[in-house]
Amino acid sequence: MTPTPTRTLNYLHGESVPPIGGDWLEQLDPRTGRRIGDVAASGPEDVAQAVESSARAWPAWRALRPTERGRVLVELARVARRHAALLGDIESRETGKPGREMPALVDLVAQFFEYYGGIAGTMDGELIDVGPAYHSYALREPFGVVGAILPWNAPLHQAARAIAPALAAGNTVVAKPSEFTSGSLVALARLAVEEAGLPPGVLNVVLGTGPVVGAALAEHPQMRKISFTGSVRAGQALGHIAAERILPLTLELGGKSANIVFDDADLAAAAAGSARAFTWNSGQWCAAGTRLLVQRSIHDDFVGRLVEAVAQIRVGPEHDATAGPITTRAQYEKILSYFDVAAQEGARAAIGGRLPDEPRLRQGWFIEPTVYVGCHNDMRIAREEIFGPVLCVIPFDDEADALRIANDSPFGLAAGIWSRDIGRVHRVAAQLDAGRIVVNEYGGGFVQNPCGGYKASGYGREQGRDALAHYTQQKSVIVRL
Ligand code: NAD
Repeated sequence: MTPTPTRTLNYLHGESVPPIGGDWLEQLDPRTGRRIGDVAASGPEDVAQAVESSARAWPAWRALRPTERGRVLVELARVARRHAALLGDIESRETGKPGREMPALVDLVAQFFEYYGGIAGTMDGELIDVGPAYHSYALREPFGVVGAILPWNAPLHQAARAIAPALAAGNTVVAKPSEFTSGSLVALARLAVEEAGLPPGVLNVVLGTGPVVGAALAEHPQMRKISFTGSVRAGQALGHIAAERILPLTLELGGKSANIVFDDADLAAAAAGSARAFTWNSGQWCAAGTRLLVQRSIHDDFVGRLVEAVAQIRVGPEHDATAGPITTRAQYEKILSYFDVAAQEGARAAIGGRLPDEPRLRQGWFIEPTVYVGCHNDMRIAREEIFGPVLCVIPFDDEADALRIANDSPFGLAAGIWSRDIGRVHRVAAQLDAGRIVVNEYGGGFVQNPCGGYKASGYGREQGRDALAHYTQQKSVIVRL
């Protein structure tokens, strides 16, 4: 049965509001390429309404005791879990993610609100001893209205990651989800107001394209800070506007993360983990382990094991598929274009590297997980973020060689190490230029672990305790006694 097309509206000051200009963007189903609805294509006037509403809501939200703000966020976690089916259905429909993944995803979203709600009351200032003639201290104060500009690959997860600490710290938020995946955040914002008791205006959601709505958010004089998650290209565009306005940014950008397998690793676990590292979410994962560095002595054996693990992945539109489609047509075409690049560069596909055979998978934007061998680190497929299930395998000789190759990248978001040698693990972890290192697993870490990039992968950190502080600015008070 074809679902009824939906219209996704802005959510401003507790109301669903159509865009002032009356423009809409068509939303397509990644599983079939057919239209599933329309999304508000807002303009600067809508953005102004959103920011002004959040500015009006700020004094009262800020005046709450931190533990009172925290209580609302913890309640939102409960509400999100209660409506997991609704939120999961919208997100799965818009992104194409397999339905079976949705309960865990909504639970993770709830964990962000629970965690930051729980620690909202722990944000202490500092008493600073400058001698007996003074009483001096430093306070942490919220910025005011904070923007959250978000990508399509994990819409609710990325939203919760930015919004929960910003609200806990006493800011109000205007969020702009990706124009391809706006519905789940609008639904969450509505639940926040209608069921969790978040005052209207504390979280507004304004929809539309990046160059129009994202830019208008950054240009609005009442916008005080922006957390941006997305591509390097868009992060740079935002950075130009921010430089003009001296607007603080957190930038969570792309990656080309090295996943290093040493010859003393548990090879069965490493093969399964390395397959997941580049295919989870069909490779649409900023921290995906898409450069697999394998010690030369085990290279052929390991590639065999890896290909076996990748062959188990069931790509499809089904609820219980292991991997769904690519979320946007443009991204799908970009990934396919790298198949030509790989062929020109002389890499060989050990598995994948072509469109799926099944006709039903050719209707939507499905891509076979692809492992390229015969790669070296100077190839474009090893340097550029493809953002799909495409892996290049690069051999290395020893620890120093592995580190040289791993760090020779414009990015530095994450890295994996597979080894049973505890000394080697810590030595290598200490020398990798990456914001997150995962050992003997390749996963996303936990809400409590700071997350962010070195080099072109961005600056500032989300997640973890310190993210709360990142949504505040310090004020020093020095009193002569
Ligand atoms: P994107 O940069 O195209 O879009 C991200 C957001 O920015 C969207 O809301 C978009 O509308 C907006 N945007 C686009 N151009 C803009 C502009 N000129 N000014 C202001 N806003 C603009 O990214 P995407 O394709 O949605 O997401 C994929 C990218 O995001 C990948 O590079 C991926 O690595 C990155 N990502 C990073 C993290 C992280 O934590 N580091 C997490 C998820 C995704």
